[in-house]
Amino acid sequence: AKRHGGNTYRVFVPSYRAVADSRRDLIRDLREAIQTHSITLHYQPIINAQTRQLAGFEALARWTHPVLGPIPPDRFIRLAEEAGLMHDLGHALLDEACRTAHSWPHNLWVSVNISVDQLYHRNFIGEVRRILKETSYPPRRLQLEVIETIFMESDAATYSVLQELDSLGVRIVLDDFGKGYSSLGYLRFFPFSKIKLDASFVRDMLSDSRSAAIVSAVIALAGDLGVAVTAEGVETEEYFYRLSSKGCTEVQGYLFGYPMSQDKVASFIAGHFRR
Ligand code: C2E
Ligand code: CA
Ligand code: CA
Ligand code: CA
Repeated sequence: AKRHGGNTYRVFVPSYRAVADSRRDLIRDLREAIQTHSITLHYQPIINAQTRQLAGFEALARWTHPVLGPIPPDRFIRLAEEAGLMHDLGHALLDEACRTAHSWPHNLWVSVNISVDQLYHRNFIGEVRRILKETSYPPRRLQLEVIETIFMESDAATYSVLQELDSLGVRIVLDDFGKGYSSLGYLRFFPFSKIKLDASFVRDMLSDSRSAAIVSAVIALAGDLGVAVTAEGVETEEYFYRLSSKGCTEVQGYLFGYPMSQDKVASFIAGHFRR
C-alpha cells in the first residue's frame, strides 16, 4: 500500500490488462521451460512406518523461473493444465522419474503425480507402456498418484483407465485422501493399492481428538481393505510415534527428509542404509 497525504492509503490494484499480460508471459516461459527440460524433479523419501526403513520416493516438480525465482508447483501445474501443456510436461516428468529411479536399489519405488488431464489423454496408457519399455523400468516399482478429481469423469471412463494401468503392473495411489469429498465407494470399486492421508488430518491429530479419530479410522479401514496407507506431513517424532502405533504403513514428511535434487538422492540412500 502506498501512502497518500493524510491518513489514507491507496492499494495498488493491477489492471486486468496487466494481469492478463503477465499470465500470458508466464505461459510463454512455462512452454519454453518444458521444451528445454528446465522443469525438473525433486525426490522426497517415504519411510516404512513399522520398520523405519526407506521405502521409496515421491517425485515433485520444481521450476525456478529465471526472473521470478521458484514458482510453487501447485501454481505452475494448474497453469500448465489451463494452457494445455500438462500432457507434454507430465510425459517428460514421468520419463525422467523412471530413468532416475532405475539406478536406485531394486527394493525402492518412485511415486509420480499424475494430473487429471494426463490420465484422460487419449493415449496415456500407450505412453506409460512406452516409457516403461524405453527405460526398461519395472512397472512394479512405479506408483502413480491421482487425486479424487479424476472421479469427475464417468465411473466407466475412470474404471477403464485405472484398470488398464493396474494390468500393466503399475500401482495406483489415491492422493490427498480426506481433503475433498472422498467417497468410500471409490475404495470399493477402483484398484487402488494405497491411499495417502492428507496432511491436514495429520497436522491436527495431536491437538484435535476428531482429527485423531479420523486418522485412526482411515488406517483401520485401509488395513481391512488390504490397502496401504501413507501419512503425509509428518514433521516430528511425536507424529511418527502415534501414526506408527496406529498401524500406519508409511510416513512422509520433513522429519525424514525434504524433497531433494536427483544428485542428492544417491547419498541419501547410501547414508540411510549405512545406519
Ligand atoms: P502433494 O502431491 O500432496 O505433495 C506433497 C506436498 O507436501 C509437497 O509440496 C511436499 O513438498 C510437501 N511436504 C512434504 N512433507 C511435508 C511436511 O512435513 N510438511 C509440510 N508442510 N509439507 C510437506 P510441493 O512440492 O510444493 O507440491 C505441491 C503440490 O503440487 C503437490 O501436492 C501436487 O499436488 C502438485 N505437484 C507437484 N509436483 C507435481 C507433478 O509432477 N505433477 C502433478 N500433476 N502435480 C504435482
Ligand atoms: Ca502427491
Ligand atoms: Ca498429497
Ligand atoms: Ca496436495
